[in-house]
Amino acid sequence: MESTSLKSRAIAFAFCIGAVSFILTLVTNADRTFDTARIAQAVTIAIICSIMSWASAERAVASVAEAVDRAIARLTMAAHGDLLSPTPSGVRDHLPHLADALDGLFRQTRSNLESVNTLAMYDPVTSLANRLNFRREADRMLQELAERDFAALLFIDLDHFKAVNDTLGHAQGDQLLGKVANRLRAVAEAERESNPRPGADPLIGRLAGDEFTMLLPGLNDRSDAERVARRVLFALGEPFDIAGQQVDIGASIGIALRPEHGRSLTALMKAADIAMYHAKSRGRSQSQFYSEELAETLAERSQLEKDLRHGIAQKQFSLVFQPQLQIAGDGPPVCEALLRWHHPVLGDRLPGDFIPAAEETGLIIQLGDWVIDNVGRTLSNWASLGLQHRIAINISPRQLERAGFVHRIRQSLAVHMAPPHLLELELTESLAMKCPDDVLADLASLRADGTVISIDDFGTGFSNLGRMLAMPVDRVKLDRCLVDGITRSEEARTIAHAVIGLIHGLGYQAVAEGVESEEQLAMLKAMGCDAVQGYAVAVPMDEDALIRWLAARHQAAS
Ligand code: C2E
Ligand code: CA
Ligand code: CA
Repeated sequence: MESTSLKSRAIAFAFCIGAVSFILTLVTNADRTFDTARIAQAVTIAIICSIMSWASAERAVASVAEAVDRAIARLTMAAHGDLLSPTPSGVRDHLPHLADALDGLFRQTRSNLESVNTLAMYDPVTSLANRLNFRREADRMLQELAERDFAALLFIDLDHFKAVNDTLGHAQGDQLLGKVANRLRAVAEAERESNPRPGADPLIGRLAGDEFTMLLPGLNDRSDAERVARRVLFALGEPFDIAGQQVDIGASIGIALRPEHGRSLTALMKAADIAMYHAKSRGRSQSQFYSEELAETLAERSQLEKDLRHGIAQKQFSLVFQPQLQIAGDGPPVCEALLRWHHPVLGDRLPGDFIPAAEETGLIIQLGDWVIDNVGRTLSNWASLGLQHRIAINISPRQLERAGFVHRIRQSLAVHMAPPHLLELELTESLAMKCPDDVLADLASLRADGTVISIDDFGTGFSNLGRMLAMPVDRVKLDRCLVDGITRSEEARTIAHAVIGLIHGLGYQAVAEGVESEEQLAMLKAMGCDAVQGYAVAVPMDEDALIRWLAARHQAAS
């Protein structure tokens, strides 16, 4: 298009030159004769001038057209990804402004692409390799190792990061992550200095949130990996200064070794992840090597979690009740509700097999709600049978942590028209000691309505007696460990006696658990226990069996 218009301009220009030279030839004719020969001469001169000027214009046009073609070809190459080749010299010679513009355009596009690349490969908070980049680099590093070469992959998960993020805010959380990355860099740098051979450089990545990875291709053996993990734990165990505050976090580390636990990055990441999960469940700020047994435990655990979800949906749970013998006063026996799971394949399972998993996964909330609702229904059922037995239920920390716990209890009692004084809540000693003030206030309001609060498993935790005195509590249940030896050992007797005295001294009732023999029962009575629970009184039983047991007792007493 451009060259066509340039050509037509060249033709017009040549035509003009021809016309001018024709006129000039005639005008400059001294004798002013315009015969045929003179005109022919003027025409010839005009044609020669036109051809000459057309030829020279045409040459310039052709060069510009060629330069434009080259510029178009260069742009086509750029469109196919070539941003590095220089602008062709023909373009620069004939169209220098266009050449400058093309150079500037390619330079800018290259720099934009570099920025996009950096964003895609590095985590903007810590400037560490992001997941994609870490995977790619680590894959490459692992592939470059010789068959028997040793390497370790550390999966590092911060321990209390969520709490920092929640309390100090995301900006401070990001600042903390940046500082964590710097400490990891320092550990990697120390490793690099102690082992400067090529290909031995550690690679650090941030996978997501508070998860970091470190690939160490330059180690010699397991103890080397353990040493680095210890260094990381130490580095992250030191307090961080965030916005003038000292923040303690720490980390849990899972370690996978090449070639022992796998050769591919995928296998090593999976192994290190499993190991990290165990390090965390062992109590944080720990490192843990992967092993086959760990993988099995994890598989069992995840199967249990799946079965639990399914079991809740399929209503595979029921309650059994264990009555307590009231010694002081002769009120009707209080019954403790205990969960049972009728597993379709494994048969009946006791709470010890599934409550810990339910607590860890949070499924205890659903199970606990089911228990509360079921107990409400049972109380209303018993009321219709003329039975006035209080039911005690076990409460998990997760349930108490959840807002509106007391509201849900009240609601369930109201739905089933069950009076609050027929409900007792059992909180373990350790849970009771950790209870925040607002929860204690909620419990106190429930207690003011008549609900009985008891401390369970007393003697297994550490109680602060001052705090216990201030708590809204009615009863304290002595754990089985305090009852167990009283018939065999003088010391055990002394301790049980002292504990019962202490509970009474605080103004609460003492209930003994796990009472298995008549001898124990007699001793506990003599020590002044207010109630006893255990196989010597009755085993936990389903609702029908319990109603028969209660009726039989009632008949025997009358
Ligand atoms: P716990 O609250 O200390 O409950 C008493 C446990 O001791 C029950 O075990 C009961 O069957 C057992 N037991 C009763 N008498 C005797 C005895 O004379 N000797 C011996 N050796 N054991 C006796 P179970 O039913 O297996 O429950 C175990 C634990 O599971 C309970 O301990 C409680 O902490 C928890 N649990 C049970 N049901 C629930 C529930 O609905 N919610 C929550 N959060 N936890 C529950
Ligand atoms: Ca209990
Ligand atoms: Ca108990």
